[in-house]
Amino acid sequence: MSARNILVINCGSSSIKFALVNEAQSSFPLQGLAERLGSPEAVIHFENASGKESVNVPDADHQAALAQILPRVEEAAGGHLDGIGHRVVHGGEKFFASTLLNDETLAGIEANIQLAPLHNPANLSGIHAAMNLFPELPQVGVFDTAFHQSMPEHAYRYAVPDFLYKEHGVRRYGFHGTSHRFVSKRAAELAGLPVENSSWLVAHLGNGCSTCAVVNGESRDTSMGLTPLEGLVMGTRSGDVDPSLHNFLHNTLGWDLAKIDSMLNKESGLKGLSGLSNDMRTLTEARQAGHPGAVLAFEVFCYRLAKSLAAMGCALPQLDGLVFTGGIGENSAVVRERTLEHLKLLGFKVDGEANARCTRGVAGEIQAAGSPRVMVVPTNEERQIALDTLALLDA
Ligand code: ADP
Repeated sequence: MSARNILVINCGSSSIKFALVNEAQSSFPLQGLAERLGSPEAVIHFENASGKESVNVPDADHQAALAQILPRVEEAAGGHLDGIGHRVVHGGEKFFASTLLNDETLAGIEANIQLAPLHNPANLSGIHAAMNLFPELPQVGVFDTAFHQSMPEHAYRYAVPDFLYKEHGVRRYGFHGTSHRFVSKRAAELAGLPVENSSWLVAHLGNGCSTCAVVNGESRDTSMGLTPLEGLVMGTRSGDVDPSLHNFLHNTLGWDLAKIDSMLNKESGLKGLSGLSNDMRTLTEARQAGHPGAVLAFEVFCYRLAKSLAAMGCALPQLDGLVFTGGIGENSAVVRERTLEHLKLLGFKVDGEANARCTRGVAGEIQAAGSPRVMVVPTNEERQIALDTLALLDA
């Protein structure tokens, strides 16, 4: 059998990220991004081994954009596509693993719209468009929340009245599950340990950031909650604040819930603290130049990350290693170093040279002698989604 091809699709409200994954090739034969969909500026960016190209598609919606993407994907796949894997943000308590998409599972995703009112409808519009365009192809949903369905109740319940959980699903779900699952398994492989008998702390640090405790290949706790706002300092999200902040801002400034929600999700985090940028590269340069906001944002980011990792340690029976991933985790030696300085009590020490070497896709161990293992492991959510899709095709 020749190596199979899976198209991986990640639909936002006005965007589609896509990648063609071939099971035998480490890089993607074709990938790209359609953005500003539904507006006159809608555009699709394609990237393959021979370069990049952008195509304007004024006013295209998800289906019109996918119809443009399809012929190029089929060509790059040598005329044969085997299936489509869709990233779906919220699977609630219904989905604890990836699933073939059919009428029943689509109804399950719809039932979770209330939990992810911005994300699930966008994911669904991509799924419906792909199903209309490729009715004969098997399609699979891979959920950000599914990996965390193994959390024990004492980790996923909030201390609020019981009926809010039982009748309204108010609990911690966690996100970034596809990434935490991929890198913890990869870390075990690289360290020569069996994933089903190993324990990891994982820090996924991209625009969104979360930590996870992974025991024997299962999530036992994670820092994000009912929504992706809980936990760490992120690019534009505040992470944890006092829940009474809403009241305080309403009473003192007259802000309504929508304004507070928008501030916490879009104007906070690295951006809010620094007053400069949500982007860690920009902040790293500004910090070196002595910009006080960048210095503060960096310090709060690393301290809060260390605090969360130490807390996740409560879920581990032993520690086989700490894994950094995501754009910041994979590239920022200074963030890793500063975070580990706050974790001295757990015995962490970094090897400066090894730490500096692990950037731009280079995986490796960066601890100094005598320290617990610390690894940098590039994430690859697209490949994990393709692997899940292939596994369901085989089943
Ligand atoms: P997303 O969550 O959107 O997939 P990424 O995982 O690509 O995002 O992470 C984006 C973050 O990674 C940004 O804050 C970016 O500045 C940061 N980043 C990328 N490269 C570097 C680098 N060399 N040094 C520091 N931060 C970096």
